[in-house]
This record gives sequence, structure tokens and C-alpha cells, in this order.
Amino acid sequence: MARVCVIGTGYVGLTTGACFADLGNQVSCLDIDAAKVGLLRAGGMPIYEPGLEEVVARNAAAGRLAFTTSYAEAVPGAEVLFIAVNTPQGAGGPADMSHVEGAAATLAQHLSGPAVVVNKSTMPIGSADLVAEIIRRATSAPFHVVSNPEFLREGSALHDFMHPDRVVLGAAEPAAAARVAALYAPLGAPVVVTDVRTAEMIKYASNAFLATKISFINEIAQICDKTGADVREVARAMGLDARIAPGFLSAGIGWGGSCFPKDVRALEYMAAAHGCHPQLLRAVIEINRDQRLHVVRLAKEALGGLRGATVGLLGLAFKPNTDDMRDAPSREIVELLQHEGALVRACDPAATEQAARLLPTVELCPDPYATADEADALILVTEWNEFKQLDLGRLRRAMRRPVLIDGRNLYDPAAMAAAGFEYRSIGRPSKISVP
Ligand code: NAD
Repeated sequence: MARVCVIGTGYVGLTTGACFADLGNQVSCLDIDAAKVGLLRAGGMPIYEPGLEEVVARNAAAGRLAFTTSYAEAVPGAEVLFIAVNTPQGAGGPADMSHVEGAAATLAQHLSGPAVVVNKSTMPIGSADLVAEIIRRATSAPFHVVSNPEFLREGSALHDFMHPDRVVLGAAEPAAAARVAALYAPLGAPVVVTDVRTAEMIKYASNAFLATKISFINEIAQICDKTGADVREVARAMGLDARIAPGFLSAGIGWGGSCFPKDVRALEYMAAAHGCHPQLLRAVIEINRDQRLHVVRLAKEALGGLRGATVGLLGLAFKPNTDDMRDAPSREIVELLQHEGALVRACDPAATEQAARLLPTVELCPDPYATADEADALILVTEWNEFKQLDLGRLRRAMRRPVLIDGRNLYDPAAMAAAGFEYRSIGRPSKISVP
């Protein structure tokens, strides 16, 4: 059993805190957002993350998991302190480190005994040195900084945390790495111990590579579109090659969310700042932007223009099983559609609360059928399970024009044509005539 403090109670921090508590540790979750902490203390959940509520409730009830806004309460006595605050994109591309700097400076004021401070947030290369410097300025308490980037995915955060492909630990001091490794030992995952800068780069390189895979298949999809090949079959057969692997080869409207966009941009920025020429990263970003334009172009072509058209979006979250809309493709698509003069409405099983705040000009509907009502076109944006088995006849009858743009290649082109839709997808033969 270790005494753990997790600073930042968002998708990563709350999952980290709940899972370490579930593994038998005494965990204090700390956040400056008093409303969030109040909600958690009252048994509520500030985010939508399948299964997390149950684990939080179980461990809070067992007295292993507590929530606070007070550094003075959470930091003294903690042996391992995780910094899991947000590192959003700053102006011009670099990661905004102000939350990390604030957390490090405040925790330093309350550090008492020997402690290991763990950089769990995604932070630019060199951040472990920065955090150590900030803490050293404020305290004479002995401490070490370890970099331990997180690889969980929203929507399956609990599973990913408990079953990681690998745990990466970057440390200058082997004993500090061993202290953190001990926390993960019950998971039985491979542990990669390396120096801090390498650990920090592993996170950026991993995210950039996954984004590259998606942009690669999207570029192939564009070529498939023009040549009559089917990108889904291409990707499936490519993925069967063990050297390539099947993940992240789904063509569609591109990557988004709270990590890939900001992390690829931050890596591009770091590369340029160090005199490198990140031409592949730039192409990856550009291809991704093109995919958003592409779906809007498909809708425009199918309708012969978007001015005055009503376009419904199926899905708003950046991916299924989350309510997160940070850098969600839907936001850019809404902007592009409205710029072209379309009226936009949308539905999402989890993100409508976020959407009401972020997209006030979009009419939010309770379900896909209300979204389709008198619509000229639908665009499938997020491949939620709820959208996989729609009553196509009902959907088609509700619409003014039966145009469906499938931004995730979710539906079968022949079934859509048979149901009477003018169906377009990404990189697949779409103009299939009804038999
Ligand atoms: P989040 O925005 O959901 O949560 C961050 C939390 O930190 C917020 O609740 C905020 O109030 C709190 N915070 C900010 N400053 C604070 C301070 N000084 N003291 C205490 N709390 C403070 O962010 P997230 O999605 O959990 O991401 C956290 C980090 O993990 C980021 O660096 C992100 O890149 C990385 N990451 C995220 C994911 C993901 O899927 N979300 C996956 C892997 C890594």
C-alpha cells in the first residue's frame, strides 16, 4: 500500500486515482475545480467514462479514495504524487505548461518527506527538468521527478489503465523509477525504464505515429475514391500483415480529440524550434484538415450547394463512448457547414451537454430520427454503437432529401442504396445503383 496523490482529476487523473485505489493504495485526488471536487464528493461524475463511476464509488466507500481542492490536505505524507493536469495547445502550437507549472509550484510548498513526483500529463521533452527546477526553488524536501506518460484512450480508460501494453518510466534515479514501478506491479505489464527525455519523447512519438497511420489511410482513401478501389478492403488486407498491424487504419473524417491534434502540433513545434524540418508531421496535419473539408464537399456536391439546406450530424463527440468534444472533428464540420449557409442540427448519446455550451448555434436533437426530420442531408460523424442499427426506412422517410454522408464508413453501401439513400462514404465505391 502506498500513499498516492493525483493532481488533476480529469479523464487521466480520475482514472489513475480510481485505479490505484482499486489496487489497494490510499489515494487523494486533488483538483482546483471546486465544482468538480464537490460533485465527486457527492457521488457524481464530472465526465462520461464507461465503468469509472462504479470504481470511484467502490473505492470512495472503502475509504481508499478521497477528493479535495486543498494541496495542504493532499500533499504532505504522499509518497508518490502524479501531476495529471491538462496541457492544452498554446498559441502557435507548443504545449501550454501553465497548469503543470502551477501544480508543481503549489505542491512544492507542501512537500514534507521524501517523495516521487510523477509527470503523468503529456509534457514536452525537457519538462521533467523544468518541474524539478520549479520544486527545487520552493523546498528543501528530498524528491525525484519521474516521467510516466499515459496511453489510455477515452471511452476505454479503465480497461486501458488496468491492461496497458507497456508502462513507460523515465528517471535519472533508478530507485525513483522502482518506486513508481512498484505501483504498477500488480498489472503485470512490461515496464520500460529509460531516461526522462526518452520517456517524454515516447509519448509524442507514439501519438504522432498513430495520427500518421490515420492520415496515411485517408490519403489512400482519396486515391481509392478516384480509382474505384475500396479502402476498407485495402485496410483490412494491409492490417493482416503483421508488420503493419490493423489498428488506426480506418479511413474517415480524420483524427481529433484532446490529444492527437495538440500533441502532433506540439511535436512539430518542438522539432522546428530545434532546427529540424518536420515535413512528415506537417503533411499528417494537412491531410487531416483535408478530410473535414472532404465530407463537407461531399454534402455540397450531393445537394448542389448548402445555402439554406438543413444538415443533420449523427454524433458530436470526437469518438464513441466519450462526451469529450475538445478538438472534435464535429466542431470544424459545423463551422464549415454554417459558413456555406447550412442550418445544422445534431444528436449525440453523451455529448449534448458539452455541445450546448460549445455549439450554441446548432439545434440539438434527442435522437437520429429527430435529427433526420425534414433534413436535406445527414453526416455520420461519430461511430456510436447506437448508430449502427438504425431503422433505415424510418430515417429515409423522415428526410426531405435522402443524402447520407458516412464520415466513418459505418454502413454498407449496398444496404444504403437499397434503402433509397444517396449514399457517400470515404474511399469506397459509393454510386451503387439499386438492384
Ligand atoms: P482534463 O482537462 O480532463 O483534466 C485536467 C484537470 O486538471 C482538470 O480537472 C483541471 O481542473 C485540473 N487542474 C488544472 N490545473 C490544476 C492545478 N494547478 N492543480 C490541480 N488541478 C488542476 O485533462 P485530461 O484529458 O485528463 O488530460 C490530462 C493530461 O493527460 C494531458 O496532458 C493529456 O495530454 C494527457 N493525456 C490525456 C489522455 C486522454 O485521453 N484524455 C490520454 C493520455 C494522456
